[in-house]
Amino acid sequence: MKNVKTHCIVLKSSVVREIDKSVTLISPDIGIFTVTAFGACKSRNRFGGKLEPFSVLSAELTVRMRATEEERQFKELTLLDSFENLTKSYETVLTAQFFCEVLLKNNTAGEDRRMFSLLYHALKALNRCGAKESETAVVINFLVRYLAFAGFFAPLSECSLCGRAFQENETVFMQRQDHQPYCAGCVCGGSVPLEPELRDYLNTVLKIPFAETSEIPINTDGGRKLKVYLISLLKELSGFRYKTLESLR
Ligand SMILES: [Zn+2]
Repeated sequence: MKNVKTHCIVLKSSVVREIDKSVTLISPDIGIFTVTAFGACKSRNRFGGKLEPFSVLSAELTVRMRATEEERQFKELTLLDSFENLTKSYETVLTAQFFCEVLLKNNTAGEDRRMFSLLYHALKALNRCGAKESETAVVINFLVRYLAFAGFFAPLSECSLCGRAFQENETVFMQRQDHQPYCAGCVCGGSVPLEPELRDYLNTVLKIPFAETSEIPINTDGGRKLKVYLISLLKELSGFRYKTLESLR
């Protein structure tokens, strides 16, 4: 048996056997793992209130080897942040759940540190949001970073066929077939046009930390369009349906 200290974020939490909680978390050191917190639903349990979705924790875990699997238990838990604004609107809860669902559904082993940090900053930004527009920007920034980490998103600087560098005021076409950027002369088949402002926005936000992306303006229509495009890209590339998206508009 050994003890391990790590930070983690609760991705999902469900009640089992009426008094226990099954909690799935992401840690920068361990990746995604599940712990059964025995008795966590009893009113006096010291861990119960800390195991809600989106809670950021500093955890001390005991780790035992059971056959070939490591079994983890909570030894100490400190609540670092609970992002209270996330639960103030149904839509915001769904958006936060969507971020968690993306990490849960897709295997990103080996990128634990990046994924933890991405989720942390996305939840933090979402927690700060008031207006709908900025919530759209958080979703865009989460997805564009996620897709870039996962290797899905090509740099939007040159045409994938002729190799010509895109001009500043040029509309670029994201081809449906391979999700690469093409110039108007090279694109064939279905595509999604990215106007210069949207391409500029993506190229800018990918170069700066998540926390600074709220400073970069994006207009409402452009933001909505980009969000729809990135969500369709995620669905197509990962091949999954996302439960939370079906309720999210
Ligand atoms: Zn071209």
